[in-house]
Amino acid sequence: MGILPVMEITDRLEAYPTSGDTKMTMVVTQPCIGCKDKACLPVCPVECFSTSEDEPMVYIDPDECIDCGACVPECPTEAIFYEDDVPDQWKGFIKTNAKISQECPSAHE
Ligand code: SF4
Ligand code: SF4
Repeated sequence: MGILPVMEITDRLEAYPTSGDTKMTMVVTQPCIGCKDKACLPVCPVECFSTSEDEPMVYIDPDECIDCGACVPECPTEAIFYEDDVPDQWKGFIKTNAKISQECPSAHE
């Protein structure tokens, strides 16, 4: 299975029910796709980023993120936002992070 194209990531959101009770903190958005840098990973004190070989980006587990903000200035593409500040066109990534982070292994290994 190859890396998923962007539209497939967005399409997968339709398969997830809206719980409305998920704790949210920082969110990784579309500019992360294709990043080779991953400068966010070593600064995270709780190692709460997830990904897999099939995923084109990393995701933040909202249940583990402590909202410290350390990853934000490290990201060269400015892909990480606090949930309330996610640009409208990328709001879907809030749910993407919450759901796919539960399906992927840690990105810190
Ligand atoms: S969040 Fe930023 S630094 Fe981390 S993998 Fe994505 S683009 Fe790269
Ligand atoms: S805000 Fe802090 S805890 Fe949350 S993902 Fe970024 S570095 Fe990790």
